[in-house]
Amino acid sequence: MRFNTALLHDGADLNETHGATLPPVYQASAFHHASAEEMAAIFGHRAPGYSYTRVGNPSLAAFETRITRLENGVSSVAFSSGMAAISGAVLNIVAAGDEIVASRGLYGGTYYLFKDLRSLGIATKFVDITDRAAVETAVSEKTRLIFAETIGNPSLEVADIPMLAEVAKAHGIPLIIDNTAATAYLARPLDLGADIVVNSTSKYVNGSGSAISGVLTDGGTFNWRSPKYPEFASYAKYRKFAFTAKLRNGFARDLGGCLAPMNAFLNIIGLETLGLRMKQACDNALAMAEWLSREHPELQVNYPGLPGARTRDTAGRVLRNGFGAILTLRAGSRERAFAIMNRLRLMYRISNIGDSRTLIIHPGSTLALENTPEEREGSGVYDDLLRISLGIEDAADLIEDLRQALEAG
Ligand SMILES: *Cc1c(COP(=O)(O)O)cnc(C)c1O
Repeated sequence: MRFNTALLHDGADLNETHGATLPPVYQASAFHHASAEEMAAIFGHRAPGYSYTRVGNPSLAAFETRITRLENGVSSVAFSSGMAAISGAVLNIVAAGDEIVASRGLYGGTYYLFKDLRSLGIATKFVDITDRAAVETAVSEKTRLIFAETIGNPSLEVADIPMLAEVAKAHGIPLIIDNTAATAYLARPLDLGADIVVNSTSKYVNGSGSAISGVLTDGGTFNWRSPKYPEFASYAKYRKFAFTAKLRNGFARDLGGCLAPMNAFLNIIGLETLGLRMKQACDNALAMAEWLSREHPELQVNYPGLPGARTRDTAGRVLRNGFGAILTLRAGSRERAFAIMNRLRLMYRISNIGDSRTLIIHPGSTLALENTPEEREGSGVYDDLLRISLGIEDAADLIEDLRQALEAG
């Protein structure tokens, strides 16, 4: 099955839903059992079944199955947010004294999380992940994982996932890729050598900005039987499911960031049109980027698909179907950036990406507020920078909106 067909047919088991094409919303906190014995068997992992929605729920399972197929992994765990999914992925691996090597251009929330982890004795080295030597130098005996984003936000640098996977493999550590800004429509990180992929499904998967959620998917390929990962020893019997078995028996269950069944349902509806929306949004972004570089070269538009983009070659190898739906431009000053934002009539001034609507933000005064000037520049946030997340409107209307806002001053 090709991409759009699979979104509508792959992972949908109509026998389980009495023929309904959409799975029901199991809006239930807990589940009844036929006998005490059955209850004991489910709790003892000797029988399949559900007990309590924080631990598992059929609506979540239906969503997880679709994501596992979409990312070509072996199992997925859904969470209440993208940050909860990233926290789960990372905490399932690291312990006090361990280190993480991560991109310096990470999404702000993830950057802040890695800084929070310092108080638990987990240190993160932030590096330019486009520089292989820098990544190799940063990896030490204590490093337990490498973390990067397919398309950095808002640096818009495309990670060379096969190269990072090579470095990770050479050191016997897993590569985790945040695929939020690309989605499986543009890249399947597990197919490119990553071990675990995380997605904030609040963005393109949901598509309508109607629910916060996240999910992680394990490729089942990493060998956890290593002295570096002693906590995994008792999960070896789960073989390719060892990662998610440990997670479900640990931080996914115990931190309590479970996805609401209704939000899983909203995401399943969103998934149906992921391919169509991504195509339109990526086409819009390319059209706007080309228009900007032609009509307003002084605005230094940054878009991974433009000939001069810093990671254009990598993007050509790692991405398919397009170059993403986010672009940035530099207004010249913070004042002009604000003035342009305020004159826009169509684009929404919203802190989000991946909505069907086009959204604009000034990251320097919002997303990167807590960063030092050095941290901001390292992650590609300049004081005059505007980030636009293209939606699925007609490109001509969006370009007209930006044109009138730029011409007014
Ligand atoms: C939004 C986002 C997150 C966090 O997701 P939430 O659902 O908001 O918690 C993580 N990574 C990237 C790249 C994002 O854009």
